[in-house]
Amino acid sequence: MNIHDAMTLLKEKGYKTTGKRKEILDYFSHADGYRTAKDLIQFMEKSYEGISFDTIYRNLHLFCDMGILEATELKGEKHFRIACSHHHHHHFICSDCGKTKEINLCPMDELEGALPNYIIEDHKFEIYGVCPNCRNT
Ligand SMILES: [Zn+2]
Ligand SMILES: [Zn+2]
Ligand SMILES: [Zn+2]
Repeated sequence: MNIHDAMTLLKEKGYKTTGKRKEILDYFSHADGYRTAKDLIQFMEKSYEGISFDTIYRNLHLFCDMGILEATELKGEKHFRIACSHHHHHHFICSDCGKTKEINLCPMDELEGALPNYIIEDHKFEIYGVCPNCRNT
């Protein structure tokens, strides 16, 4: 998902494409991994002094609902990243820096045999740990 596609989607659904929303998308598209609402508010405060957590959360949830952002829980805190829109894959997520690495194997290929006669509608699979970069510091 890039900023252009996200803004188009917002417009299509009748949401205002405000400077604030663009800036939030800009932040995540450059983040290269998962970030918290706190990280985002720290960044936003530089341009929007006094921006509220309420505004931040409302936009984060809107973007998640629309599939612009993906959310996951790391160390008991919700983290967000820009959604990957290309081919189906999974992520290794570094619990230190929030960076993700694509894994192009899908465990469902193996597991479908364990659920005969069940209709599988969706699945989620994430691996958590420490990336080589964080491991060396
Ligand atoms: Zn991805
Ligand atoms: Zn890391
Ligand atoms: Zn999969």
